[in-house]
Amino acid sequence: MRHTKNPTQILSAYGMRHTGCRSQILEQFIYHDFALSHNYIESHIDSKYDRVTIYRNLKAFLDKGVIHKVLDDEGGIKYALCNDACTEHDHHHNHVHFKCEKCGKTICIDSLKIPEISLPANFEAKELNLLIQGTCDECT
Ligand SMILES: [Zn+2]
Ligand SMILES: [Zn+2]
Ligand SMILES: [Zn+2]
Repeated sequence: MRHTKNPTQILSAYGMRHTGCRSQILEQFIYHDFALSHNYIESHIDSKYDRVTIYRNLKAFLDKGVIHKVLDDEGGIKYALCNDACTEHDHHHNHVHFKCEKCGKTICIDSLKIPEISLPANFEAKELNLLIQGTCDECT
């Protein structure tokens, strides 16, 4: 498991209000080492938290640099915990994501950086996404 912190420590570290919903969402991210979709989170936490509440909290986590978006091959969005280097409005990672075609899991490969890309003049990059598809180490 990559993340050893608990939800309370994460919320405190990012100066966020502690709520039951936030703690439960974070538990899901800490417990799983692959990226999670909104639907997955919704079906794994207390059903008293509705879609909109979960959406708002995911957005708050994104804004604070607690989690980042992981684009899927089917155009869906998943989310994964950021490493410690990320802060509000300042995501530092440019790591590669890997989607396993057998188990369907999308994982962050923090040790593998996206190579430097030189854009044509007057183009400005805002976000880089590199998704490698194949078979993960658990499925080979
Ligand atoms: Zn980040
Ligand atoms: Zn797999
Ligand atoms: Zn990632």
